[in-house]
Amino acid sequence: MTFDIITIFPNIFDSYLKESILARAQKNGLVEINIHNLRDYTSDTHRTVDDSPYGGGVGMVMMAEPLYRAINDIRAAPRNDTRIILLTPRGKRFTQRDAQRLTQYDQIILIAGRYEGIDERVAEFVDEQISIGDFVLSGGELPALAVVEAASRLIPGVLGKDESSREESFSDENSSEYPQYTRPEIFITDDKKELKVPEILLSGNHAEIAKWRKSKRKQPTKRPQPPS
Ligand code: SAM
Repeated sequence: MTFDIITIFPNIFDSYLKESILARAQKNGLVEINIHNLRDYTSDTHRTVDDSPYGGGVGMVMMAEPLYRAINDIRAAPRNDTRIILLTPRGKRFTQRDAQRLTQYDQIILIAGRYEGIDERVAEFVDEQISIGDFVLSGGELPALAVVEAASRLIPGVLGKDESSREESFSDENSSEYPQYTRPEIFITDDKKELKVPEILLSGNHAEIAKWRKSKRKQPTKRPQPPS
């Protein structure tokens, strides 16, 4: 599966993609991730990618034409094997189900915006618009990495057998994963509070442990809510 990310800050991706699971997935040929500098698709000497908004207002808007050229150049496959995604806070909220759905494509092209946003006409040549949450970041680079990582983890072979995604949060009925503990059995805080691992997990009774874990998987409505 290939991810192509269009950005005006290609260096942002360097360190993240060279570490851990995504680095291994690329090395093993399970995932290919290409970063494209949008400025390579401009036609003026200043390599301009933005201009002021029609109708006035603050900030700059990314122009449609360089993005149009970039997409046409990068798209490798017939349209139904390639998914073109615009990252925007105005898009559909990204979920684990979307991550799973995206693994069916051979190529995912992700457009990372900057400035005040992107010329709305770009919507005409993308397949979908994705938001990673109801907040505004300065650019689409982090959202692009979030989408790449969430989808890549679901490609068979990307996670080692000790890192299975089968029981992870949202893999089943939208519930979140059960709580996890590791050594020590009792963790004592500076104010002498004893934080203990639930006894059931020390029992060695795998059937009971499985039952306990199932009971602890939280439905979205039961998750902790932010303070009001
Ligand atoms: N003015 C825009 C608005 O209010 O909706 C925000 C633009 S934001 C500063 C610049 C770029 O960051 C966007 O074009 C988008 O690519 C990216 N971005 C910011 N927040 C995002 C989010 N929650 N999900 C996906 N992309 C986001």
